[in-house]
Amino acid sequence: MIQQLTIIGVGLIGGSLARALRVAGAVGEIVGAGRDEAHLQRAKELGVIDRYSLDPAAAVRGADMVLLAVPVGAMEAVMRAIAPALGADTVLTDAGSTKGSVIEAARQAFGELPANFVPGHPIAGTENSGVEAAFAELYRGRRVILTPTATSSPEAVARVREMWRAAGAEVTEMDAEHHDRVLAATSHLPHLLAFSLVGTLAKLDEKEEIFAYAAGGFRDFTRIASSDPQMWRDICVHNEPALLAMLDRFEADLRNLRQAIAGDDGDYLLKVFGRAKAARDRFCDRE
Ligand code: NAP
Repeated sequence: MIQQLTIIGVGLIGGSLARALRVAGAVGEIVGAGRDEAHLQRAKELGVIDRYSLDPAAAVRGADMVLLAVPVGAMEAVMRAIAPALGADTVLTDAGSTKGSVIEAARQAFGELPANFVPGHPIAGTENSGVEAAFAELYRGRRVILTPTATSSPEAVARVREMWRAAGAEVTEMDAEHHDRVLAATSHLPHLLAFSLVGTLAKLDEKEEIFAYAAGGFRDFTRIASSDPQMWRDICVHNEPALLAMLDRFEADLRNLRQAIAGDDGDYLLKVFGRAKAARDRFCDRE
C-alpha cells in the first residue's frame, strides 16, 4: 500500500496508473504536478488525483512513491527541481520510453544515481494523450520493464514492482541498454515509419484524394502517427544510437525490395513477404 503517490505529468500514462491503483485499493493519497493548472484541475475533477501543485518540489513532499511521467526530454529538469525535496525513503521511478537517457538525466540531476531510483517503462499506451485519455485497465496483462541501475536498492525495486503488479501488469527486468535496443526495434522505428509515411503523403499535391481513398490498411499502418509529436521527438533524439542502428538495417532491406521491384524479381518479394507473414502470424498467435 502506497501512502502518498506523487505523479509528475498526469497524462495518459501517469493518469492511468493513478486510476488503476485506486481501483486496486493500493494507494492512499495521489498528488499531481505539471505545468498547466487547467490540466491538473481536470485531473482532480475526474478523480484521478486528490490534489495538485504547480511546483514539483512541493508536490513530492511527504510522498513515499514518486512517478515521473513527463516526456523524456523533460526528465532532467524535473529531477533537478524535485531533488532537494525528496525524502530519504522516497522511491523515485519513471515511465519514460527511453531508459539510457533517463538514467543519464538522473546522474546529471542528482550527481550520483540514488539508491531509491528505479527506472521503468510500461509497454502499454495508446495514440491519445492527456488525462482525459487515461483509463484504469491500460496496464492489465501488459508488461512493465524495470531497468534497475547498479545502485538501485532491492527494496526500492521490490516496491516499484509491487506498484505495477497492483495495476495489473506483469513486471520484468532488463538492463537499460538492452531495453533501448529492443524498444528501438519494436516501438521507436515503427512510430518513425508511420510519421514518415503520412508526412510524405501529406506533401503530395493530390493528398486530399489520397487520404479520401485511404482504407483499412492505411489506417492500421498509420494509427500511431496520431501520437503526440513532442513525445516522439523526444524519444527519437534520446535513443539515437539504437534507433539509427535499426534504421540502417531497415533502409538496407527497403533498398533490396526496391531493387527487386525494379528488376521484376517477384520471387524475392514473395520470399520476404512470406517470411514476414509467418513471423507476424506467429507473433499475433502468442498475444
Ligand atoms: P501525456 O499524456 O502527454 O502526458 C504527459 C504529461 O506530462 C502531461 O500531463 C503534461 O502536463 C506533463 N508535462 C509535459 N511536459 C512537462 C514538463 N516539462 N514538466 C512537467 N510536466 C510536464 O504523455 P504520456 O503518453 O502520458 O507519456 C508520458 C511518459 O510516458 C513519456 O515519457 C512517454 O515517453 C512515456 N510512455 C508513453 C507511452 C504512450 O504510449 N503514450 C507508453 C509508455 C511510456 P502539462 O501539459 O499540464 O504540463
